Amino acid sequence: QVQRAYNFNAGPSALPLPVLQKAQEELVDFRGSGMSVMELSHRSALYEEVHNEAIRLLKELYKIPEGYHVLFLQGGASLQFSMVPMNFLQAGKSAGYVMTGAWSEKAFAEAKLIGEVFEAASTKQENYKRIPQFDELNYDKDISYLHITSNNTIFGTQWSQFPDTGDVPLIADMSSDILCKPVDVEKFALIYAGAQKNLGPSGVTVVILRPDMLERAAKNLPTMLRYDIHVKNNSLYNTPPTFGIYMLGEVLKWVKDQGGVEGIEQRNREKAALIYDAIDASNDFYRGHAEKDSRSLMNITFTLQSDELEKKFLSEAKKAGFVGLNGHRSVGGCRASTYNAVPVEACQALRDFMIQFQKENS
Ligand code: PMP
Repeated sequence: QVQRAYNFNAGPSALPLPVLQKAQEELVDFRGSGMSVMELSHRSALYEEVHNEAIRLLKELYKIPEGYHVLFLQGGASLQFSMVPMNFLQAGKSAGYVMTGAWSEKAFAEAKLIGEVFEAASTKQENYKRIPQFDELNYDKDISYLHITSNNTIFGTQWSQFPDTGDVPLIADMSSDILCKPVDVEKFALIYAGAQKNLGPSGVTVVILRPDMLERAAKNLPTMLRYDIHVKNNSLYNTPPTFGIYMLGEVLKWVKDQGGVEGIEQRNREKAALIYDAIDASNDFYRGHAEKDSRSLMNITFTLQSDELEKKFLSEAKKAGFVGLNGHRSVGGCRASTYNAVPVEACQALRDFMIQFQKENS
């Protein structure tokens, strides 16, 4: 019986134990090849099987509409902050960004280096404690795209529904909530996500792209920054992060075993409720940062009544075996990231710890 930490890291974060064990088992001799996946040629039939299986599974599990492309790129979600405007921010047009947190700000700042952008809405004045209502979104019909951050890792808010943007391509950074619940992928022209929260290890970036977007993608870009090149080459233009893609495929098989994304969502709701209920029942001992209808299923952010008490909470939690509960360095407080692979038991243990700590300190 391996001793696993109660891992609430914000990313990289917990991976499913069965996936780690299978990777361990297959490490030195992958499917009788006498090599690990890392040692296979990315042009070999055996690797291509791994690669295409991962793409196929993501399409199946996330119910990605026919024709959409799935890409495995590098450079993290952060490179997508640049690639999106480089490819799709057309000359003479602008792009709208919905500002819901620190990562929206980063995406906006990168796009600003490329072309004209504007804030289509922002909740910064309210310290990003909520997602804007649809009627707060302000943009013209002729913009190049509208960009949103579906889950705000640092502030702990999440879009529960997505707007219909008609002919305006909707682009989403789903780094911290991809595959946490079923999503109507059809609403999106492009979705991107770093893998290191819900999908696998860091080093792989998933892009889901609506086919018509390729026609409008810029062609006068460095080759590696062109979506059309990656599509044409099935993400094998150059050497992809093969081991990460293998791990991602194994995580997807695990998701399938959990009852697919629907099963995962049910578990995620159960997990988040355990901790939010502890916050809500605490008589303000714990204070949730997000407004209730903007609460994230993935990152639960809260503070205690004083810095001193918060320090004590974090230090005792650490002693009790909880990892990663410190809030992001930019905002402080506490944050429990309950990504797909975090087991229900870890959330139960945290809930129990929170209740006990409150008893002893109030
Ligand atoms: N967007 C969001 C919502 C994130 O949470 C993160 C990473 N925490 C990023 C973008 C940046 O991702 P990466 O480190 O893969 O560039």
